[in-house]
Amino acid sequence: MMYRSPFRAISRQTTEYKKKGNWKLGYHTGVDRVCDTGRILVACTDGMITRVNSCGSSYGNHIVFRTDDNRSILYAHMADKPAVKVGDRIVSGQILGRMGNTGNSYGAHLHIEVQSSKTWGYGKNLINPNSVINWEKFSDKEGDFMAKPWKNGSTPEKVYQTVADCKAGKNSIGSLDARESATCVAIVDNCYLVTYSAAGTTKAGFVAYAGGVK
Ligand SMILES: [Zn+2]
Repeated sequence: MMYRSPFRAISRQTTEYKKKGNWKLGYHTGVDRVCDTGRILVACTDGMITRVNSCGSSYGNHIVFRTDDNRSILYAHMADKPAVKVGDRIVSGQILGRMGNTGNSYGAHLHIEVQSSKTWGYGKNLINPNSVINWEKFSDKEGDFMAKPWKNGSTPEKVYQTVADCKAGKNSIGSLDARESATCVAIVDNCYLVTYSAAGTTKAGFVAYAGGVK
């Protein structure tokens, strides 16, 4: 099964897998990709977070997750401190962060590595990400939740950064006005992950209101 793209729009490869050069192993351990029309990064398949910012500082803000078919996937140089933590279950299409330029990076891009093992080890069990990711696939596999338009209720809904905050009704990061349009991109633990645009930037967060998506 080919995984979907970690981006939500067309991206382009900027550095190929195993390219020789000034890396610790003498070659590039993953591929670099840039998306010119959006920075949101989503899970390319279902899995569980196994590492957060623990693979070395040259990766900048990064995460590793174990896929349900027992591979390890690393997303590196993310813009923000990851909002997920080790042990979090993730679903294909779920927003994980934004493409960024942290760590040893030459400009905003996604460095992605795939290893054919449940646990991540530097330079170990590497496989070519292009052999398992279809970069032009933007929907999730059949039967998965697909992004749907969100329709808010008549009162503003509070938006939360994490599922835990959403369930507890604590630390809201904003609110979604009844008239604002949004897209529901995933349902996690009965919380609705929505993306919306506020003051010209794309925002994302969890909402507890269940009526917005049918
Ligand atoms: Zn790279």
